[in-house]
Amino acid sequence: MSAHIIDGKQLSHTLRRDYAQRVNRLTQQGLRPGLAVVLVGQHPASQVYVKNKVLACEEIGMHSLLLKFEADMSQAQLLQEIDRLNHDTSIHGILVQLPLPAQIDPQAVIQAISPQKDVDGFHLESAGALMCGAPSFWPCTPHGCLQMLDAIGFELGGKHAVVVGRSNIVGKPMALMLLQRNATVTICHSHTRDLKAQTLQADVLVAAVGMRHLIQADMVKPGAVVLDVGMNRDEMGKLCGDVDFDAVKEVASYITPVPGGVGPMTITMLLANTLDAAQAALTNPNSRV
Ligand code: NDP
Repeated sequence: MSAHIIDGKQLSHTLRRDYAQRVNRLTQQGLRPGLAVVLVGQHPASQVYVKNKVLACEEIGMHSLLLKFEADMSQAQLLQEIDRLNHDTSIHGILVQLPLPAQIDPQAVIQAISPQKDVDGFHLESAGALMCGAPSFWPCTPHGCLQMLDAIGFELGGKHAVVVGRSNIVGKPMALMLLQRNATVTICHSHTRDLKAQTLQADVLVAAVGMRHLIQADMVKPGAVVLDVGMNRDEMGKLCGDVDFDAVKEVASYITPVPGGVGPMTITMLLANTLDAAQAALTNPNSRV
Protein backbone atom coordinates (compact mmCIF):
# COMPACT_ATOMS: atom_id res chain seq x y z
CA MET A 1 0.00 0.00 0.00
CA SER A 2 1.21 3.49 -0.81
CA ALA A 3 2.42 5.68 2.08
CA HIS A 4 0.42 8.53 3.55
CA ILE A 5 1.78 11.86 2.40
CA ILE A 6 2.66 14.31 5.15
CA ASP A 7 1.52 17.57 3.61
CA GLY A 8 3.79 20.33 4.88
CA LYS A 9 1.81 23.00 3.07
CA GLN A 10 -1.44 22.00 4.71
CA LEU A 11 0.12 21.64 8.16
CA SER A 12 1.79 25.03 7.73
CA HIS A 13 -1.51 26.56 6.76
CA THR A 14 -3.17 25.22 9.93
CA LEU A 15 -0.31 26.33 12.19
CA ARG A 16 -0.06 29.76 10.58
CA ARG A 17 -3.76 30.37 11.21
CA ASP A 18 -3.02 29.93 14.94
CA TYR A 19 0.04 32.11 14.68
CA ALA A 20 -2.01 34.92 13.09
CA GLN A 21 -4.18 34.87 16.21
CA ARG A 22 -1.09 34.99 18.43
CA VAL A 23 0.20 37.99 16.46
CA ASN A 24 -3.15 39.64 16.94
CA ARG A 25 -3.16 39.02 20.69
CA LEU A 26 0.41 40.27 21.12
CA THR A 27 -0.35 43.35 19.02
CA GLN A 28 -3.38 44.10 21.19
CA GLN A 29 -1.08 43.85 24.21
CA GLY A 30 1.06 46.57 22.65
CA LEU A 31 3.77 44.51 20.99
CA ARG A 32 3.64 43.66 17.29
CA PRO A 33 6.09 40.82 16.62
CA GLY A 34 8.76 41.76 14.09
CA LEU A 35 11.31 39.84 12.03
CA ALA A 36 14.31 41.36 10.25
CA VAL A 37 15.59 39.44 7.24
CA VAL A 38 19.05 40.40 6.04
CA LEU A 39 20.25 39.62 2.53
CA VAL A 40 23.76 40.39 1.33
CA GLY A 41 24.31 40.14 -2.42
CA GLN A 42 22.05 38.80 -5.15
CA HIS A 43 22.25 35.02 -4.78
CA PRO A 44 19.18 33.96 -6.87
CA ALA A 45 17.92 31.21 -4.53
CA SER A 46 18.46 33.44 -1.49
CA GLN A 47 16.36 36.19 -3.08
CA VAL A 48 13.46 33.71 -3.39
CA TYR A 49 13.95 32.46 0.21
CA VAL A 50 13.94 35.94 1.74
CA LYS A 51 10.92 36.96 -0.31
CA ASN A 52 9.01 33.90 0.93
CA LYS A 53 9.97 34.64 4.54
CA VAL A 54 8.81 38.25 4.31
CA LEU A 55 5.55 37.19 2.62
CA ALA A 56 4.93 34.62 5.37
CA CYS A 57 5.33 37.37 7.99
CA GLU A 58 2.90 39.61 6.14
CA GLU A 59 0.35 36.80 5.81
CA ILE A 60 0.06 36.46 9.58
CA GLY A 61 0.20 40.19 10.29
CA MET A 62 3.74 40.21 11.64
CA HIS A 63 6.01 43.20 11.09
CA SER A 64 8.88 42.41 8.73
CA LEU A 65 11.92 44.33 7.67
CA LEU A 66 13.90 43.24 4.62
CA LEU A 67 17.40 44.69 4.54
CA LYS A 68 19.29 44.20 1.27
CA PHE A 69 22.96 45.02 0.96
CA GLU A 70 25.46 44.96 -1.89
CA ALA A 71 27.64 41.85 -2.27
CA ASP A 72 30.82 43.86 -1.56
CA MET A 73 29.63 44.94 1.88
CA SER A 74 32.34 44.51 4.53
CA GLN A 75 31.99 42.27 7.57
CA ALA A 76 32.37 45.32 9.84
CA GLN A 77 29.44 47.04 8.10
CA LEU A 78 27.25 43.96 8.47
CA LEU A 79 28.16 43.58 12.14
CA GLN A 80 27.16 47.22 12.63
CA GLU A 81 23.76 46.51 11.06
CA ILE A 82 23.30 43.47 13.31
CA ASP A 83 24.14 45.59 16.34
CA ARG A 84 21.54 48.13 15.27
CA LEU A 85 18.90 45.38 14.88
CA ASN A 86 19.87 43.90 18.25
CA HIS A 87 18.88 47.24 19.80
CA ASP A 88 15.76 47.82 17.66
CA THR A 89 12.77 47.21 19.94
CA SER A 90 10.41 46.67 16.97
CA ILE A 91 12.48 43.63 15.92
CA HIS A 92 12.26 40.37 17.87
CA GLY A 93 13.93 38.02 15.42
CA ILE A 94 16.94 38.49 13.16
CA LEU A 95 17.66 36.20 10.24
CA VAL A 96 20.76 36.57 8.11
CA GLN A 97 20.29 34.66 4.88
CA LEU A 98 23.16 32.28 4.17
CA PRO A 99 25.41 31.87 2.26
CA LEU A 100 27.25 35.16 2.75
CA PRO A 101 29.87 36.54 0.33
CA ALA A 102 33.39 35.19 0.85
CA GLN A 103 34.73 38.29 2.66
CA ILE A 104 32.24 37.76 5.52
CA ASP A 105 32.68 35.04 8.13
CA PRO A 106 29.20 33.59 8.73
CA GLN A 107 30.11 32.46 12.26
CA ALA A 108 31.17 36.00 13.23
CA VAL A 109 27.80 37.26 12.01
CA ILE A 110 25.71 34.53 13.65
CA GLN A 111 27.48 35.00 16.98
CA ALA A 112 26.85 38.76 16.77
CA ILE A 113 23.07 38.22 16.77
CA SER A 114 21.59 38.60 20.22
CA PRO A 115 20.67 35.08 21.48
CA GLN A 116 17.25 36.55 22.39
CA LYS A 117 16.69 37.33 18.67
CA ASP A 118 18.38 34.21 17.25
CA VAL A 119 15.24 32.84 15.59
CA ASP A 120 17.27 30.66 13.22
CA GLY A 121 18.66 28.87 16.29
CA PHE A 122 22.22 28.94 14.91
CA HIS A 123 23.90 30.88 17.74
CA LEU A 124 26.29 28.82 19.90
CA GLU A 125 24.16 29.66 22.91
CA SER A 126 21.06 28.21 21.21
CA ALA A 127 23.00 25.15 20.04
CA GLY A 128 24.42 24.58 23.53
CA ALA A 129 21.00 24.93 25.10
CA LEU A 130 19.53 22.40 22.66
CA MET A 131 22.30 19.97 23.48
CA CYS A 132 21.65 20.34 27.22
CA GLY A 133 17.88 20.17 26.87
CA ALA A 134 17.43 23.77 28.04
CA PRO A 135 14.81 26.04 26.44
CA SER A 136 16.13 27.73 23.32
CA PHE A 137 15.26 28.56 19.75
CA TRP A 138 15.44 25.36 17.76
CA PRO A 139 16.76 25.42 14.20
CA CYS A 140 13.71 25.72 11.97
CA THR A 141 14.16 22.80 9.56
CA PRO A 142 14.60 19.98 12.10
CA HIS A 143 11.98 21.62 14.31
CA GLY A 144 9.60 21.47 11.34
CA CYS A 145 10.40 17.77 10.91
CA LEU A 146 9.56 17.11 14.54
CA GLN A 147 6.27 18.98 14.17
CA MET A 148 5.41 16.73 11.23
CA LEU A 149 6.03 13.63 13.34
CA ASP A 150 3.81 15.13 16.05
CA ALA A 151 1.14 15.90 13.46
CA ILE A 152 0.86 12.23 12.50
CA GLY A 153 0.87 11.23 16.17
CA PHE A 154 4.14 9.33 15.88
CA GLU A 155 5.46 8.29 19.31
CA LEU A 156 9.27 8.47 19.17
CA GLY A 157 10.05 6.85 22.51
CA GLY A 158 12.15 3.70 21.98
CA LYS A 159 12.03 3.97 18.19
CA HIS A 160 15.13 3.90 16.04
CA ALA A 161 15.70 7.16 14.17
CA VAL A 162 18.38 7.40 11.50
CA VAL A 163 19.48 10.86 10.38
CA VAL A 164 21.50 11.02 7.18
CA GLY A 165 23.55 14.24 7.23
CA ARG A 166 25.31 15.93 10.15
CA SER A 167 25.30 19.64 9.37
CA ASN A 168 24.99 22.13 12.21
CA ILE A 169 21.73 23.48 10.81
CA VAL A 170 19.87 20.23 10.02
CA GLY A 171 21.44 16.86 10.80
CA LYS A 172 22.97 17.45 14.25
CA PRO A 173 20.07 19.44 15.75
CA MET A 174 17.62 16.91 14.26
CA ALA A 175 19.48 14.09 16.00
CA LEU A 176 19.43 15.99 19.32
CA MET A 177 15.71 16.68 19.07
CA LEU A 178 14.97 13.02 18.35
CA LEU A 179 17.20 11.99 21.24
CA GLN A 180 15.36 14.39 23.52
CA ARG A 181 12.16 12.57 22.53
CA ASN A 182 13.75 9.26 23.62
CA ALA A 183 14.44 7.82 20.20
CA THR A 184 17.59 5.74 19.69
CA VAL A 185 19.47 7.82 17.16
CA THR A 186 22.03 6.95 14.50
CA ILE A 187 23.72 9.75 12.58
CA CYS A 188 25.14 8.96 9.13
CA HIS A 189 27.43 11.08 6.98
CA SER A 190 29.74 10.87 4.00
CA HIS A 191 32.15 8.53 5.83
CA THR A 192 29.45 6.08 6.91
CA ARG A 193 30.17 2.58 5.68
CA ASP A 194 27.21 0.71 4.23
CA LEU A 195 24.57 3.43 4.49
CA LYS A 196 21.87 0.96 3.50
CA ALA A 197 22.60 -1.27 6.51
CA GLN A 198 21.99 1.79 8.73
CA THR A 199 18.91 3.18 6.99
CA LEU A 200 17.24 -0.24 7.00
CA GLN A 201 17.21 -0.04 10.82
CA ALA A 202 15.18 3.17 10.80
CA ASP A 203 11.64 3.49 12.10
CA VAL A 204 12.10 7.16 11.24
CA LEU A 205 14.48 8.10 8.46
CA VAL A 206 15.50 11.72 7.95
CA ALA A 207 17.43 12.45 4.75
CA ALA A 208 19.35 15.75 4.88
CA VAL A 209 22.19 15.45 2.41
CA GLY A 210 21.53 17.30 -0.84
CA MET A 211 21.89 14.32 -3.17
CA ARG A 212 19.03 13.38 -5.46
CA HIS A 213 17.76 9.79 -5.15
CA LEU A 214 20.29 8.93 -2.44
CA ILE A 215 17.59 7.02 -0.55
CA GLN A 216 16.20 4.15 -2.63
CA ALA A 217 13.28 1.88 -1.83
CA ASP A 218 15.53 -1.05 -0.86
CA MET A 219 17.17 1.14 1.82
CA VAL A 220 13.91 1.69 3.69
CA LYS A 221 12.36 -0.61 6.27
CA PRO A 222 8.73 -1.43 5.37
CA GLY A 223 6.42 0.87 7.35
CA ALA A 224 9.11 3.46 8.18
CA VAL A 225 8.34 7.19 8.33
CA VAL A 226 10.53 9.03 5.82
CA LEU A 227 11.23 12.76 6.09
CA ASP A 228 12.99 14.27 3.09
CA VAL A 229 14.85 17.50 3.84
CA GLY A 230 16.94 17.54 0.66
CA MET A 231 16.44 20.22 -1.95
CA ASN A 232 17.93 19.34 -5.31
CA ARG A 233 17.14 19.95 -8.97
CA ASP A 234 16.59 17.16 -11.48
CA GLU A 235 17.83 17.34 -15.07
CA MET A 236 14.69 19.32 -16.00
CA GLY A 237 15.41 21.85 -13.25
CA LYS A 238 12.51 20.56 -11.16
CA LEU A 239 12.85 20.67 -7.36
CA CYS A 240 13.31 17.23 -5.77
CA GLY A 241 14.55 15.77 -2.52
CA ASP A 242 17.10 13.15 -1.45
CA VAL A 243 14.55 10.35 -1.50
CA ASP A 244 13.37 8.44 -4.58
CA PHE A 245 9.83 9.47 -3.73
CA ASP A 246 7.85 7.35 -6.22
CA ALA A 247 9.58 4.11 -5.21
CA VAL A 248 9.96 4.80 -1.48
CA LYS A 249 6.31 5.73 -1.04
CA GLU A 250 5.48 2.10 -1.85
CA VAL A 251 7.53 0.94 1.17
CA ALA A 252 7.13 3.68 3.79
CA SER A 253 4.06 4.27 5.96
CA TYR A 254 4.41 8.07 5.82
CA ILE A 255 6.56 10.23 3.57
CA THR A 256 7.11 13.94 2.96
CA PRO A 257 7.08 15.21 -0.64
CA VAL A 258 9.48 17.71 -2.18
CA PRO A 259 8.27 20.33 -2.79
CA GLY A 260 5.45 20.79 -0.28
CA GLY A 261 6.95 18.88 2.65
CA VAL A 262 9.69 20.08 4.96
CA GLY A 263 10.28 23.35 3.05
CA PRO A 264 7.09 25.17 4.06
CA MET A 265 7.49 23.89 7.64
CA THR A 266 10.91 25.54 7.88
CA ILE A 267 9.38 28.98 7.32
CA THR A 268 6.51 28.15 9.65
CA MET A 269 8.97 27.35 12.46
CA LEU A 270 10.73 30.64 11.78
CA LEU A 271 7.42 32.39 12.44
CA ALA A 272 6.93 30.29 15.60
CA ASN A 273 10.39 31.22 16.90
CA THR A 274 9.79 34.91 16.18
CA LEU A 275 6.48 34.74 18.05
CA ASP A 276 8.23 33.09 21.02
CA ALA A 277 10.89 35.80 20.95
CA ALA A 278 8.24 38.52 20.90
CA GLN A 279 6.32 36.83 23.72
CA ALA A 280 9.53 36.67 25.79
CA ALA A 281 10.23 40.35 25.10
CA LEU A 282 6.74 41.23 26.29
CA THR A 283 6.90 39.10 29.41
CA ASN A 284 10.37 40.17 30.39
CA PRO A 285 12.59 42.31 28.18
CA ASN A 286 15.68 40.50 29.54
CA SER A 287 14.27 37.00 29.48
CA ARG A 288 15.17 33.96 27.43
CA VAL A 289 12.55 31.93 25.60
P1 NDP B 1 25.35 20.16 4.16
O1 NDP B 1 25.99 20.10 2.82
O2 NDP B 1 25.84 21.12 5.17
O3 NDP B 1 25.42 18.69 4.81
C1 NDP B 1 25.21 17.55 4.06
C2 NDP B 1 25.47 16.34 4.91
O4 NDP B 1 25.30 15.18 4.11
C3 NDP B 1 26.90 16.27 5.46
O5 NDP B 1 26.87 15.93 6.82
C4 NDP B 1 27.57 15.18 4.63
O6 NDP B 1 28.52 14.42 5.34
C5 NDP B 1 26.38 14.29 4.33
N1 NDP B 1 26.62 13.48 3.15
C6 NDP B 1 27.16 13.85 1.97
N2 NDP B 1 27.20 12.80 1.13
C7 NDP B 1 26.71 11.74 1.79
C8 NDP B 1 26.51 10.39 1.45
N3 NDP B 1 26.83 9.90 0.26
N4 NDP B 1 25.99 9.56 2.38
C9 NDP B 1 25.64 10.02 3.60
N5 NDP B 1 25.79 11.32 3.97
C10 NDP B 1 26.33 12.16 3.07
O7 NDP B 1 23.81 20.35 3.87
P2 NDP B 1 22.61 20.89 4.80
O8 NDP B 1 22.49 20.08 6.01
O9 NDP B 1 22.70 22.35 4.90
O10 NDP B 1 21.39 20.58 3.83
C11 NDP B 1 21.09 19.26 3.42
C12 NDP B 1 20.03 19.30 2.34
O11 NDP B 1 18.86 19.87 2.90
C13 NDP B 1 20.37 20.18 1.14
O12 NDP B 1 19.78 19.62 -0.01
C14 NDP B 1 19.71 21.51 1.46
O13 NDP B 1 19.39 22.25 0.30
C15 NDP B 1 18.46 21.01 2.15
N6 NDP B 1 17.87 21.96 3.07
C16 NDP B 1 16.52 22.09 3.02
C17 NDP B 1 15.88 22.94 3.88
C18 NDP B 1 14.41 23.03 3.80
O14 NDP B 1 13.85 23.98 4.32
N7 NDP B 1 13.73 22.06 3.17
C19 NDP B 1 16.62 23.77 4.83
C20 NDP B 1 18.03 23.47 4.90
C21 NDP B 1 18.62 22.61 4.02
P3 NDP B 1 29.91 15.06 5.86
O15 NDP B 1 29.55 15.83 7.10
O16 NDP B 1 30.76 13.88 6.15
O17 NDP B 1 30.42 15.92 4.77
